[in-house]
Amino acid sequence: MASLIGKQAVVIGAGMGGLTAAGALAGRFDRVLVLERDTLPSEPTYRAGTPQARHVHGLLLSGQRALSELFPGFEQDLARAGAVPLRVGLDVRVERPGYDPFPQRDLGWFGYAASRPTIERAVRQRVERCANITLRQRCRVQEVLGSPNGEAVTGVRCENGNGASETITADLVVDASGRGTLTLDLLRSLGRPLPEETAIGIDLGYATSIFSIPNDASTDWKGIMTFGRAPQNSRGGLMLPLEGNRWMVTIGGRHGDVPPGDEEGFLAYAKALRTPTIYNAISHAKRMDDVARYGFPESVRRHFERLDSFPRGLLPIGDAICRFNPVYGQGMSVAALEASLLQRLLERFENDGDPIAGLAPTFFAEMQALIETPWSVAMLDFAFPDTRGQRPADFEATLKFGIALTQLAAEDPAVHKLTLEVQHLLKPRSAYRDPALMQRVLARMAEARPVPAPG
Ligand SMILES: Cc1cc2nc3c(=O)[nH]c(=O)nc-3n(C[C@H](O)[C@H](O)[C@H](O)COP(=O)(O)OP(=O)(O)OC[C@H]3O[C@@H](n4cnc5c(N)ncnc54)[C@H](O)[C@@H]3O)c2cc1C
Repeated sequence: MASLIGKQAVVIGAGMGGLTAAGALAGRFDRVLVLERDTLPSEPTYRAGTPQARHVHGLLLSGQRALSELFPGFEQDLARAGAVPLRVGLDVRVERPGYDPFPQRDLGWFGYAASRPTIERAVRQRVERCANITLRQRCRVQEVLGSPNGEAVTGVRCENGNGASETITADLVVDASGRGTLTLDLLRSLGRPLPEETAIGIDLGYATSIFSIPNDASTDWKGIMTFGRAPQNSRGGLMLPLEGNRWMVTIGGRHGDVPPGDEEGFLAYAKALRTPTIYNAISHAKRMDDVARYGFPESVRRHFERLDSFPRGLLPIGDAICRFNPVYGQGMSVAALEASLLQRLLERFENDGDPIAGLAPTFFAEMQALIETPWSVAMLDFAFPDTRGQRPADFEATLKFGIALTQLAAEDPAVHKLTLEVQHLLKPRSAYRDPALMQRVLARMAEARPVPAPG
């Protein structure tokens, strides 16, 4: 029996960060209260608070495993909800300059493809089954409340669906509101410094629609990922299967090369991708939904770890700390990995005199290792000259390293497997520093073969 470290924890937001955090907290608090501003649909449908849910949401293997750790049997839940099993490395045709397609190999792993509402509902159903977690809908948190001396957080003030204002006390408040503005507002109101931010400006434009999978669809793949040729062409497309025999197709470009929101314009943009594979697949398929659009100005990392101190009893999580370019499909998985870290820290601190006091600083310090790899992936956007932000000094070398590594991965299944392990956040990027691999990559770089630029 785990020992409790507090009476009540309040989680702001029932998105992926909030739900997974609630799962991590349930064993350590008497009660966990999740406050969500939206009405939560019983069916897997869209809701206003997560507009990104209308777009492709790939779940990485690391995220899938973290969810299964928090909610044992979660993969079966996904399968029961109609998620489509995908053999990683084999079932998605990856098209990148020089490799149309990149070699498809069965590496022995299964992932699942499903819509974001289906993934989120599967997690929500698990949370709803926890006896000491309460999900309160139509409850908008307006303020995180600090103690008079500003050292600690005491709860939240929220507005219920009927417009009534309420104060809820808590030993721990987790800010999983996505934007994280409540945390920043509190720091401001207490006169505390705000975390420094690193931003990578990309002005990404996304457009998405859903199609019925035609009977004569290719059997060589279940999904397609098409990259443009950097730096000239930032357009890309991602098509994944969904529950209900459908494809979700997201197309998009950076720096203002935005896809239109009408059906004709959507198809024309898809036709102009670097390869015709996605266009050919959907041009005669039945469209099942309108075209939804989304603008994503920049990836942002908030450096809470650099603050000298932080109010006791407050913990931002998920996008409130770091938002990644969605093209790389990392946000939900990182949120689930952070919740797993939170669960481990609660276990480690359970016998401390004041476990909550050390929680946020340790979390901020230890999560750096967790977000280093996904953030280094988001930095690949500096391949496009219009990208705003601090371009790393050694970026040309990073690009050349990546190109040589991609060549080796195309030739050697073991290197292919390693690159997928890093992309799926199962291994850190530092795994590429293995001496034998480094030697091969450096030798390939020295050959200076004509190579395609990365997508
Ligand atoms: C276009 C797009 C595509 C993406 N594609 C992928 C992908 O392929 N794979 C992937 O892993 N990730 C993807 N992401 C990222 C992913 O959506 C997020 O990283 C992930 O949802 C983070 O979870 P979160 O809990 O921090 O925020 P969210 O899931 O956005 O949840 C925040 C919740 O807080 C609620 N809330 C906000 N303010 C309040 C308040 N004051 N009171 C009460 N409730 C509040 C909101 O209603 C919402 O339910 C994508 C993002 C975008 C924008």
